[in-house]
Amino acid sequence: MKLYCNVEVSNRVSSTNIIRRKAQRSILAIGRHTIKGNDLYLLWQTLQNKQGTKYKIDNNIEKIFNKFINEGKATIRLIEPPHDLIIQADMIQLKSFMHTLKLGMSKQIDASILAISNLNPKCMTSVPKIKVVVNKSSEYPTLEGFPRTTEELYLVGLNRKSFDRQILRLQSLRILNLSNNQISSLPKELGLLQHLQELNLSQNRLDKAVKWVWLDQPAIKNNLKLLDISSNMLTIIPKEIGKLHAIVNFKASKNVLSYLPQSLGSLTNLKYLDVSKNNLKYLPGSMRNLRLILLDVCENEFDGEIMDSVIDVDLPKLVEYAGRSVLKARLPYDASSIPLLLVKYLDTAKYCVCGNPCFDCYRRKLVEFHLTAIANSVKSSGHVTIPFDCYFCSNTCVYSYAKA
Ligand SMILES: [Zn+2]
Repeated sequence: MKLYCNVEVSNRVSSTNIIRRKAQRSILAIGRHTIKGNDLYLLWQTLQNKQGTKYKIDNNIEKIFNKFINEGKATIRLIEPPHDLIIQADMIQLKSFMHTLKLGMSKQIDASILAISNLNPKCMTSVPKIKVVVNKSSEYPTLEGFPRTTEELYLVGLNRKSFDRQILRLQSLRILNLSNNQISSLPKELGLLQHLQELNLSQNRLDKAVKWVWLDQPAIKNNLKLLDISSNMLTIIPKEIGKLHAIVNFKASKNVLSYLPQSLGSLTNLKYLDVSKNNLKYLPGSMRNLRLILLDVCENEFDGEIMDSVIDVDLPKLVEYAGRSVLKARLPYDASSIPLLLVKYLDTAKYCVCGNPCFDCYRRKLVEFHLTAIANSVKSSGHVTIPFDCYFCSNTCVYSYAKA
């Protein structure tokens, strides 16, 4: 029984002195030590440690943590040495490996069926492919598909007309680059790739018809760090973008955007934003809350005008108070926990320049701000100040930010 996986070893030297080593590509194997002996051992082998480390299994496993096994994660706590093996692998293979390990621990497995050779270190070059690059359409694995272990997939410039649903089976995928194709729609299940951190959809045919329901899936919301949708034909960025809490780098240059969603201001991890070469008339006032490292707004018009509007700024309804509190506390919500009507209501939130959400009770006003207030480094084709479409949650905010 062999498992190709990433293993991080935590050494519990003492309760106050925990030493951890970075996750490494590894092979874990369960096997017998000698032909005659029935003692089971666990072999942990890495590229750096080709001979591998052997751990006794019998009476030596303190606990198995498998609460997150459906996410392809588990931990084996050994007694001697005091090591925790923190494993990440393909979910199905990991489940099967843990099942065998448990059978071995409870002596429900006849050790003789486990090959003795399992504990002979294999050449680590046999580690399955984790990076797959297809350079030509003729090399596309239409029939055989991609290896299940694929973590990085590059399908660049292949003239693909649609999103290949085979990709949705790659549960270990971290990086997906579909740049320079002809893709015009994205499947809902894209949001179920729970390890996906980088998604490049630049130079495709995404336009106003594209559906963004994949952004609503819980897995993608907490993991995606880079999203590149530049060089498409998008006229809007959906407000659901504000749910990508982990996003650090967002590129949407070379589209036909005239405005950006107010929800952008709730992306507190965002550090790099490129919205250059669009038709932007103003930026959302909520962006005042961002602290970017780099903001690129070159080649936009910034000639927008909006009517100042005041709606009951001092008398919010009860539902508005409740909604503001839910969003301020960052409480998770979806249609399984509250009525869909309330989910939709919460999704209509605007964000005040102070960072607080507001719904139907606000003042809206175009205010010129210095770009240096939100980013360390700015590329702006000479604009020093830019109009921001600001919502204000209270009169206090109006007076402190807009001096109307
Ligand atoms: Zn405010």
